[in-house]
Amino acid sequence: MIPFRADLHCHSTCSDGSLTPSELIELAAKSGLKGLSITDHDSVGAYTPEIFKEAEEAGIKLIPGVEFSTGIDSTSIHLLGYDVSLESPELISLCNEHVIRRRNRCRAILKRLEQSGMPVSETELLETVAAVNPKDRNNIVGRPHIAQMMVKLGYVQTVTEAFKKYIGEDGPCYVQGEYISPAETIETIHKAGGIAVIAHPHLIKKPNILKRLLEMKFDGIECYYSKFPKEDHLRWIKIANYRGMLITGGSDFHGTIKPSITLGCSWIDEEHFNKLMKHDIYRASGPSL
Ligand code: AMP
Ligand code: ZN
Ligand code: FE
Ligand code: FE
Repeated sequence: MIPFRADLHCHSTCSDGSLTPSELIELAAKSGLKGLSITDHDSVGAYTPEIFKEAEEAGIKLIPGVEFSTGIDSTSIHLLGYDVSLESPELISLCNEHVIRRRNRCRAILKRLEQSGMPVSETELLETVAAVNPKDRNNIVGRPHIAQMMVKLGYVQTVTEAFKKYIGEDGPCYVQGEYISPAETIETIHKAGGIAVIAHPHLIKKPNILKRLLEMKFDGIECYYSKFPKEDHLRWIKIANYRGMLITGGSDFHGTIKPSITLGCSWIDEEHFNKLMKHDIYRASGPSL
């Protein structure tokens, strides 16, 4: 028998993934996963009544999830929300705020690209994104979409090149845009009855940012992440256990945008999955690192 495995971090066409929510369920079942959370950037658009039915039929426990973009100073911080109520007015309103934030930021990035001699039509970009998932009315526009347009227009050869040369965090056309704070985001997740988790701490390079995050009201840490080696996971597991926080994990599968990452390459077992579903946390107020 295949042991229980749950991948709690992946993206669909409701943000910058290349598979539709239905295709993700299908792939998850094929990959032998028994649990899944589709964690689109700033969107819960994947969670239609049909998708829960499809998951059930495929023998997959589907937890409503979302990956919110936040920031501290000039550092971008991702925050995961799990088992959130999809009807929560606060959650809906935060997602709507992000749609507007992203559209404004996208416009600012396009302006910089134009100034650098690489015009990209906003209308065409929005139409392309909308066409990918016509069922989703709140399309999330992200940098990968801009990068794909840049490839299409021949400004760069690959999405990676677009990030590296122009729109990555150190690039000349990068615009941070306005951030919604982690504290406000955590509060919204809690109001929606969900669990707030620090996403991929492995990617946070500044110790002071980590320290500040660990002082916030998070319930869990994404200890198992993508293709990071086991030793890296242990560091985060130790911190989570010490502080009585939940342990989560997932691949951050995006499909063709990040082709080297497969669905299910990182996962949690049944014990951790059940703990998460029970919201089984005991918050110790231990020291940070
Ligand atoms: P945004 O949310 O618009 O700031 O875009 C961030 C997303 O861009 C990430 O979640 C990744 O999916 C993608 N991304 C970031 N850096 C790269 C890169 N170097 N190559 C390809 N995709 C990237
Ligand atoms: Zn992404
Ligand atoms: Fe992320
Ligand atoms: Fe992600």
